Amino acid sequence: MNFTDLGLSASLLKAIEDVGYTTPTPIQEEVIPEVLNGHDIFGVAQTGTGKTASFVLPMLEKLSKGRAKARMPRSLILEPTRELAMQVAENFEHYGKNSKLNLALLIGGESFVDQQKKLERGVDVLIATPGRLMDLFERGKILLTDVQMFVIDEADRMLDMGFIPDIEKISSLLPKKRQTLLFSATMPAEIKKLSSKYLNNPKEVIVSPQSTTASTIVQKFIHVAASEKRRALRQIIESEKIPSAIIFCNRKKDVDFLEKSMTGYGYLAGALHGDMAQSARNQVLQAFKDEKIKFLIASDVAARGIDIDKLPYVFNFDVPLQAEDYVHRIGRTGRAGNIGHAFILISKADEKNFQNILKIAGGALEEVKLDESFSVDQAKTLPQKKAPVRGKSPGRPQKTPPQEKAPSPQRPPNPPQPRVQKQSEEPKGPIIGFGDDLPSFMR
Ligand code: AMP
Repeated sequence: MNFTDLGLSASLLKAIEDVGYTTPTPIQEEVIPEVLNGHDIFGVAQTGTGKTASFVLPMLEKLSKGRAKARMPRSLILEPTRELAMQVAENFEHYGKNSKLNLALLIGGESFVDQQKKLERGVDVLIATPGRLMDLFERGKILLTDVQMFVIDEADRMLDMGFIPDIEKISSLLPKKRQTLLFSATMPAEIKKLSSKYLNNPKEVIVSPQSTTASTIVQKFIHVAASEKRRALRQIIESEKIPSAIIFCNRKKDVDFLEKSMTGYGYLAGALHGDMAQSARNQVLQAFKDEKIKFLIASDVAARGIDIDKLPYVFNFDVPLQAEDYVHRIGRTGRAGNIGHAFILISKADEKNFQNILKIAGGALEEVKLDESFSVDQAKTLPQKKAPVRGKSPGRPQKTPPQEKAPSPQRPPNPPQPRVQKQSEEPKGPIIGFGDDLPSFMR
């Protein structure tokens, strides 16, 4: 099937061609004509399937006729995080470059005044996180009675983040006669309930079975003691010659700690998590997209749904607490038909969570053994195919090596300037701050 078969106008087809897409993805094939025909949609699709364009394109088409009144947006898209909201806005900008539609982003961390000014001018497409939208509504700055199209994106994430009451409240403020599109990567019972309450005879589109991982991702796991994870991470990066990756940690303080450690070892690393100011989050994400940062250390909230063009690797430095977060984390790679790679580092504390991941991705996971200088602090889980890290000998008896010391986040930057060097370069001059514990990788 071609984009020309979907019922989109010439100006949109031109914008699609300029973006470089030649054929619609399966979800686009199914969803676009249904939305153009006015149907509600219940879409079960992972990120990476092209689901954003599946609603953005027909929305642009349908909204091209008509004009927005002040403070009365004509469409509303709810996103769980600011980053996702910004990403959807970028999609509108790309595909809508030949249209005259006004777009506003209502997300936390940005100026209320600017957002209000935009609303005053009349908005065709409003993309919002639930909290900020409710805030502006309660201040009387916005009316939702003109919304003709309503999109609830990443509904399962909204559920995890406790946004369902907000969504229910927002839905009650919308006109009864409207088109509603709901997308979710997974289909827990609560989301099913939400769909039956707010969707009118929806077309159900399922492009991948629930809670499975994309087949374009090579997934590997490694058992390693918690105290040796940072060294293991560096060793894998070096031996696999990994050019760039998102590295997920479960806790914000671990994100910051790992970022300092990686930077201390000369990697171009940056941190991204929900406690950072929005401007800092935008900056680090842009630097990663511009390849000024090669390793993005991130928490789940900050990185969900983020679309980095052709990202080759994802690391789970910690095993996520929810197996479904694993699906989302590794879904940052292997997107739009590219091959991706995902690693999980498993220490004893991660074992219980890892068992849950095995339930959804067991068959796809392959064990990698580190060399004998690493210790493992727990028993093996599954008899699996062994894939040695390149250049290392697998299956040797494990010894406990001296523990590495990561550069302390409290101390001044370490090693001395210039701190950032190409990862393949040998560090030059003495490395201050490690004493006799200089890791073998840096010798
Ligand atoms: P999404 O699932 O919306 O997060 O999209 C995942 C990625 O697929 C994004 O990088 C899109 O730019 C890309 N994409 C969307 N539609 C197509 C298409 N028809 N052909 C190729 N790539 C696409």
